[in-house]
Amino acid sequence: MFSWLKTKRRQRALASHALPDEEWSAALHELPFLDHYSATALERLRDLTTLLLVEKSIVSGATSGAHVLEVTSHMRILIAVQASLLILGRGANVADAMSDYDGWENIVVYPGDFPRTQDFEDEAGVVHRLDEPIAGESWVGGPVLLSWPAVEAGYDESGMALVIHEFAHKIDMLDGTVDGIPPLTGGARAAFKAALDAAYSDFCRRVDTGEDTAIDPYAAELIDEFFAVSCEVFFAEPELLNEEYPAYFAQLQAYFRVDPVKGTSLV
Ligand SMILES: [Zn+2]
Repeated sequence: MFSWLKTKRRQRALASHALPDEEWSAALHELPFLDHYSATALERLRDLTTLLLVEKSIVSGATSGAHVLEVTSHMRILIAVQASLLILGRGANVADAMSDYDGWENIVVYPGDFPRTQDFEDEAGVVHRLDEPIAGESWVGGPVLLSWPAVEAGYDESGMALVIHEFAHKIDMLDGTVDGIPPLTGGARAAFKAALDAAYSDFCRRVDTGEDTAIDPYAAELIDEFFAVSCEVFFAEPELLNEEYPAYFAQLQAYFRVDPVKGTSLV
């Protein structure tokens, strides 16, 4: 679709699908890491949340033997707000920012961990089908899958936030490669990669030596997992990431164009 047409359609959607105040406040109330965000940033976040709810289907997923989860409007908003946080500072306007999530439609919410649906390729290129249940998954060009209990577990200030994690994978996939680097080119990409590599190798060393890290040691599994976990920490516990890896924090801030410590969008 022509981008001007998409922009027009998104402007119309914003006018006709405004989120009720009570529902918006109820969702924000559960996300303490947004408490200090400026009114301007929150207004933009609300518009993005509205568009995300219009454009994506947030549906209940069934796993055999488990009860069927009823996905309420409150749950949809909570998921949409956190997904929107990653594009808060992107694009010249909200319609433009939403384009980062173009090309796929469904967010599937499960009543608990669910069987992995995609094969996993290790660093040696060997493809595995892992049988253990997982809490979240993002497909290239396909849906985002989430376990609702794992989404809920991230509302405190633990720095864990599954929705942010899975949508960070979506951002990583935007340039067609899953390598922990968002869509950047030239010098910006080189600077991001250098800071990411330095932080990742230091983190892996700390985990290998048995250090009890404040950042989830799962981040040492693969570089794309390090990116997804560090995005959770960047938004949900920014002071921690800024303290541990300031150069990498600055690169994330430059890409997302959000200052999560001050709670401002840098657009
Ligand atoms: Zn992941």
